[in-house]
Amino acid sequence: MVSARKPQDSPARTPVDYPDPESRSAALYRQAGRVLTDGGSRSTIRMAPYSIYVQEARGKTILDVDGNSLVDLNNNYTSLIHGHSHPAIVEAVSRQLHRGAAFSFGSEAELLLAELICDRCENFDKIRFMNSGTEAVMNGIKAARAYTGKPAIAKCENAYHGSYDFAEVSLGVEPTALDHGDPESRRYARGAPQAVLDDVVVIPFNQVDIARRILEQNAERLAAVLIDPFGTPMGRTAPSDEFLAMLQQFCAANPCLFLADEVVAFRAGPAGTQGARGIEPDLTALGKIIGGGLPVGAVAGKAGIMAVFETQSGKAALPHGGTFNANPLTMVAGHAAMQLMTDDEFARLNDLGDRFREGIREVLRLTDTDGVVHGQYSMFAITANDVLLDDTIARGHVYASNGLHLYLARNGYWMTPGLTGVLSTAMDTADVDPFCQTLNDGIRTLRDRTGSV
Ligand code: PMP
Repeated sequence: MVSARKPQDSPARTPVDYPDPESRSAALYRQAGRVLTDGGSRSTIRMAPYSIYVQEARGKTILDVDGNSLVDLNNNYTSLIHGHSHPAIVEAVSRQLHRGAAFSFGSEAELLLAELICDRCENFDKIRFMNSGTEAVMNGIKAARAYTGKPAIAKCENAYHGSYDFAEVSLGVEPTALDHGDPESRRYARGAPQAVLDDVVVIPFNQVDIARRILEQNAERLAAVLIDPFGTPMGRTAPSDEFLAMLQQFCAANPCLFLADEVVAFRAGPAGTQGARGIEPDLTALGKIIGGGLPVGAVAGKAGIMAVFETQSGKAALPHGGTFNANPLTMVAGHAAMQLMTDDEFARLNDLGDRFREGIREVLRLTDTDGVVHGQYSMFAITANDVLLDDTIARGHVYASNGLHLYLARNGYWMTPGLTGVLSTAMDTADVDPFCQTLNDGIRTLRDRTGSV
């Protein structure tokens, strides 16, 4: 039965009964399996034995269809910087919806969001909108090819950049043992053409000398070096200053563009991670928070490079259409969301990230857990040994701590399965201790159950 209860902005304390074959979520998942592959349309959110279905959400709190409430520490994989249903965003989107959802005309809303973002970031003269981070990375790569006339890109081994064929190369691979050779371009999806692999040069993350050598060996054919300045996965480990400086220098010394993927990283501050870390990408792929919770992507950069999108002599070097590009609903939601993200609000959120990381570090110390807290700015991530894993999963020092993810979900906290926590402005310092207490209880409970240390 669907609960009539409304989500409240208070921490959830009631244990969630998961998995429960009698639940409404389980029933919906069974029904979904008949018409949807894997019961849904998004590999990232699939859960076994079934996905949880949401009734509604407000602020930091999600209410599922079985009446359980969860504090959202996932925030739709970083896109919801204000949590759910922020009144200013709801108002802006509702007002726009009454006026029309999308037109084959220009909209002032697009102009306002473009101005807001370009005003904040020195490296952005111009911006162009699309509908996902995947499209943003794809169009960044295509723009680099169009601008340089060269075919290949370089990317870090195991770096996630969405699902464009070229951006997916060497994802989810066993990290290369560098004393045995350089990383190779490996297929992620079955059927990815060899031509794709041939045009992606894979470099090892944070390995300055090896990566520089590989880039130099391929300098002739590289259109861009693609890098997430937040580090992957999801900012768990940041690129070092030396690594970023090497990439920047390589791109300055060669006709190759520095393409930053700030789809997630832009939540670091008013000018994203590039502002916070003082790097100067030629092109930047954006997404997530700039859409205020609605689907969005964008490419931004210096005017001379962005000119590939401009129509000259009847045709742009890189023609770019899209029925829903810069649709007014996304644009007004993004504008409302980004306007609320003042310098002070970014600082408050990043400080909250520090407090969560400190609190978790203390829990790991007090529980004598062989683990580390990673993450930066408004995100944290827990890496620990198998004490945090389900007793059915015996793995070593990994970050996919399913047992703890499940414990936290059952006890009111919704993180990513890899134990990344993503903060929103709907949270404050009062949220730190209850979470740390639950984490502490979870570690002790799982340890008692598995007997591991
Ligand atoms: N780049 C990075 C760094 C991402 O984390 C993601 C998505 N999580 C993307 C690109 C792709 O964005 P989207 O899911 O909106 O296509």
